[in-house]
Amino acid sequence: MPATGSGQAGPTEADWAAAVAAVRGLPPDGRVLLICHVNPDGDALGSMLGFAFGLRRLGVRQLQATFPGPPEVPEPLLGLPGLDLLVPADEAYPDPDLVMCFDAASASRLGDLVDRLDRAGTAVVLDHHASNTRFGKINLIDPGAAATSVVAEGLLARLDVPLDAEIAECLYVALATDTGSFRFAMTTPAVHEMAARLLATGIRPGDISRQIFDTRPFGAIRLYGDVLSRVQLEPEAASGLGLVWTFATLDDLARHGQRPYVLEPLIDSVRCAAEADVSCVVKQVTEGQWAVSMRSKGGVDVSQVAVALGGGGHRSAAGFTGLGTAVDVIGAIRSELDRAIIKAEDQG
Ligand code: 5GP
Ligand code: MN
Repeated sequence: MPATGSGQAGPTEADWAAAVAAVRGLPPDGRVLLICHVNPDGDALGSMLGFAFGLRRLGVRQLQATFPGPPEVPEPLLGLPGLDLLVPADEAYPDPDLVMCFDAASASRLGDLVDRLDRAGTAVVLDHHASNTRFGKINLIDPGAAATSVVAEGLLARLDVPLDAEIAECLYVALATDTGSFRFAMTTPAVHEMAARLLATGIRPGDISRQIFDTRPFGAIRLYGDVLSRVQLEPEAASGLGLVWTFATLDDLARHGQRPYVLEPLIDSVRCAAEADVSCVVKQVTEGQWAVSMRSKGGVDVSQVAVALGGGGHRSAAGFTGLGTAVDVIGAIRSELDRAIIKAEDQG
């Protein structure tokens, strides 16, 4: 049973059949390029590498996995199996027979690799963002899926690839990441059933979770202290639903000798504030450019805010690239929030 459950339409049988045919119809020694989104997270890398193992089981030998930007895997994900398949973006096949994209809601999330969509024989998109722009020739988009790995597992099953421990570890990391360790609203019975199938291969959830979620450098803990000490609560923002936010600069990172990835879980500390529906962390990428993470407890569709500001995501978790100062970025969010309030009568 697919691990979906929101009632939103997923891929049709024709979509699945087209994706199966694209894989099965590869020429002998066909080249397959797998791409996930820039700044990959557990779902992006896990769904991509889990599917890569499946392709290997099917006998695909010319196989590369990549993502745009610096070819740097966040430290917590360095234990994932299959990382040997990764190549830097500028070494990826220029004209693969098949390109498959994972967890990217729009072509812009593929950076310079976007040209492969046209240059490849066929492009298949696997994703679960409701905001997905359907930029593939074949689109397996399931907004009801808790993670892209749910879609990847569905395609592997239709390709008759049995789960093994390597596939399962990748897909489990992806599923655990996007469900917040099986806490978020998307955690349906079908999600737990998928987790059960993955765990049945013998993977070790305790070790995986400690590595992925509960391990960070000492300097990162000090850094969190600095960044959390400047957190702001604005009870009047978002039409009174409340906004809590903070920011982290490149100087903060440098002072504590930390890499940007250590800031990814910071939003989880900020979003705890009981007094605010919306939370936000603004992370400096370069002078005047910020990676923005937003979360909502349900009063606001933050993907609307993100899309309005050039990004995307889900109702309760979204992001975009902000420009100017951190205060400019928060100002833009504050304005968009007032537009995005979901009226209680619309929620059904
Ligand atoms: P996070 O805050 O964990 O980085 O991202 C939360 C969600 O927002 C994810 O589903 C991610 O795909 C989406 N997201 C984050 N940043 C961006 C962005 O710059 N552009 C788009 N389109 N989506 C983003
Ligand atoms: Mn995802």
